[in-house]
Amino acid sequence: MNILLVRPKPHKESINLHSMMICEPLELEYIAARVEQLGHHADIVDLILEKRALEYFLAQKKYTLVGFASYLTHVAVVKDLSGRVHAFDPSMVTMIGGVHAEVNPGDFYDPRIDLVIQGNAMTSMEHLLVLLEGADPSDFEGRARVLDHIRSTIPGVWRKGKERPPLEMEFPFSFPDRGKTRKYRKNYSYSYLSRCASIKTSFGCPFNCNFCYCICITQKNYFERDLREVIEEFKTIEEPNVYVVDDVFLLRRERVLEFCRLMEEADINKTFIVFGRADFVAENPDVMQRLRDVGLHAVFVGIEAFSEKDLISIGKNSSVTINVRAIEIIENLGMHCYCGLIAMPDWDRDDFDNVINFLKRFKRPIINIQPLTPLPGTACFEQYKNQLVIPRERHELWDLAHLMIKPLAMSPAEFYRNIMRVYYKTSLGPGMHLHILRKHGLGAYFRILRGIIAISGQYVKMIRESRP
Ligand code: SF4
Repeated sequence: MNILLVRPKPHKESINLHSMMICEPLELEYIAARVEQLGHHADIVDLILEKRALEYFLAQKKYTLVGFASYLTHVAVVKDLSGRVHAFDPSMVTMIGGVHAEVNPGDFYDPRIDLVIQGNAMTSMEHLLVLLEGADPSDFEGRARVLDHIRSTIPGVWRKGKERPPLEMEFPFSFPDRGKTRKYRKNYSYSYLSRCASIKTSFGCPFNCNFCYCICITQKNYFERDLREVIEEFKTIEEPNVYVVDDVFLLRRERVLEFCRLMEEADINKTFIVFGRADFVAENPDVMQRLRDVGLHAVFVGIEAFSEKDLISIGKNSSVTINVRAIEIIENLGMHCYCGLIAMPDWDRDDFDNVINFLKRFKRPIINIQPLTPLPGTACFEQYKNQLVIPRERHELWDLAHLMIKPLAMSPAEFYRNIMRVYYKTSLGPGMHLHILRKHGLGAYFRILRGIIAISGQYVKMIRESRP
């Protein structure tokens, strides 16, 4: 069978970073590898990068199954795309998967979507493809029965009222098939790093921050891939830069040191970026130095706040002192610190000033500041679900940029203006422009500049449209 795997383009109202960086669709590359291992053929279409409409690609082969990867903001988009697949050829089966479907599969309940994958798609695919292969595509009633049978019997395929399957704590699958995205790969980047691939070395996180969606996906579990296998995968990556997409890579000191040793032993010369907690960085400066020496370029740290009150309220289990120490260690080692920050609903102008003043202490922090967003499935959602100003159904606006909770100390427009002020007084200051130009060249500079202009425009639009 031929299977088409599609990464959707986000809804035009969603604010995202695609105007400045696009990561490779690793989840689809994994599925493609699995599908081919099972004896079928897979193609991947990245609609973020394609100029042509989905129908053009549907016409290239006789596809049996069309699968979409979806995040929260894509819900309406994939419903629409799925409807278009059926309009193009009613015999094609549509399937949705991804992290939002794992935690909130009911959001995809729609007659236009045939199958929603709630469990590990790599496992579900095997049985699902066997049953689909046995169905006659021209017999619509028979096919409907097969789909119903798939929903009822295959673990991981969602059906209303069916239990979420137990989490699989191992990942014994082939490497993602990066050949399937060959024609797009020159466009995959992360922050300043052009030509950047992605890799996953572990799943989940054992911490318990109450706003965090990652822990909902793995139900607060954490498990790791074997590091030798990870290094073998590193060896197959052609790009000079790699984004390690683990929820938290900096967790176990011994594992991180072993990773450094294996990188050296295999003589891998790549620049890479990881996610980590501030407390790990603060407690392990020697490990950070080892990582720097084997190619670490930047660490994305969930700093979240420079106030003890806010850190406690989101359950971060860290402190301002730890945050400051972590940023200093990273910068003193000559690396970048990407600081994830959360603007709380009760913030006034002084709170935004506090963040700006803290950030000004450091050399060149790069920030991502977002209003507190109570994502469905998190403890934070339960806390704020009665105070939402955007309905759940407006999925495209749940983009970690739009305000979901009404600010208490200022108008929404003022809140957005202050978020922009933090960016422009820190990460987007003139010094940073010169730095990108000097260190990363014109290509990266114009890519980032294009993104800054696009996102600033979206913020200005939100400010204009915000009710006082
Ligand atoms: S925010 Fe980071 S540290 Fe906290 S639970 Fe999520 S992944 Fe773990």
